[in-house]
Amino acid sequence: MVKRLGIVIIGSLNMDMVVRTSRAPEAGETLFGQAFALSPGGKGANQAVAAARLGAEVTMIGRVGKDGFGRELLEVMRHEGVHTQYIGQSETQATGVASIVVDEEGENRIIVVPGANLEMGREDIAALAPVISQAEMVVMQLETDLRMCEQAASMAYSYGIPVILNPAPARALNDELLQHVAYLTPNETEAGILSGMEVNSITDAGKAARILLQKGVANVIVTLGAKGALIVNDTGSQHIPGFPVQAVDTVAAGDSFNGALAYQLTSGKTLAEAVRFANAVGALAVGKHGAIPSLPQLAEVEQLLK
Ligand code: ADP
Repeated sequence: MVKRLGIVIIGSLNMDMVVRTSRAPEAGETLFGQAFALSPGGKGANQAVAAARLGAEVTMIGRVGKDGFGRELLEVMRHEGVHTQYIGQSETQATGVASIVVDEEGENRIIVVPGANLEMGREDIAALAPVISQAEMVVMQLETDLRMCEQAASMAYSYGIPVILNPAPARALNDELLQHVAYLTPNETEAGILSGMEVNSITDAGKAARILLQKGVANVIVTLGAKGALIVNDTGSQHIPGFPVQAVDTVAAGDSFNGALAYQLTSGKTLAEAVRFANAVGALAVGKHGAIPSLPQLAEVEQLLK
């Protein structure tokens, strides 16, 4: 069967409200920030645009509200070449928003109010079957309804379609979901939460990843910030170093990595090649401000990989 929908990203669309400040305020403290910006985001949307900018065919399944933010997000997705026919509009819930504080070091602190994102797939998971069955690969994160993610992963698995699960924001996942995941991509914090052990080094990341392999995931790729990423599967583990850059804003580092990974894996690259490429994309994304505005085009990535 021809897989005409390319990479199918099931995930969140949020409007990011980004405040830049010298440092994050303490409880009860008020600070003057340096700047404020509204920008389209949400892990699903970021990952979709990341893959589309690199040249991938991308279809997004998501839900926004019938409001200004929702219309803007749909417009941005279309403008980026993402297929939007499966992004619904909620009758009752507002578009998801994320409140993001970025400090001078480029570190971010984020609160997400999911709104319409949580409605998706709850009523009628079977409606996703015709879309999922036409995917080359399915990519999910955890800013949507967990039950929906479990069912979508199970459906993709039954069609033999590989699933990338980016377990962010971290929460406990059952083994059945993990058994349906071909590529699990936690960062160090998420790897720690999912495995139940502290992850403070590459060695710890390897141990945590092996715990997750035992739960049934086929490949674990722990992203390690500036240190790159660690691939762990049945054949062993391999550290793929990151690319040195001046980090100005780590928003969307993981999202750009996941979009790039999906693009590379559906282009027939090996996992090690795909992770090296995704490290380059992640490095370029942390070198610029914003979520979607920071996502690189293919030519920039090729330049860095030379
Ligand atoms: P998350 O954004 O989900 O917390 P990470 O911080 O691990 O995830 O970043 C994801 C990927 O982005 C890393 O694996 C790496 O490829 C790249 N990256 C992140 N931070 C940096 C950095 N400071 N320098 C270079 N690459 C980075």
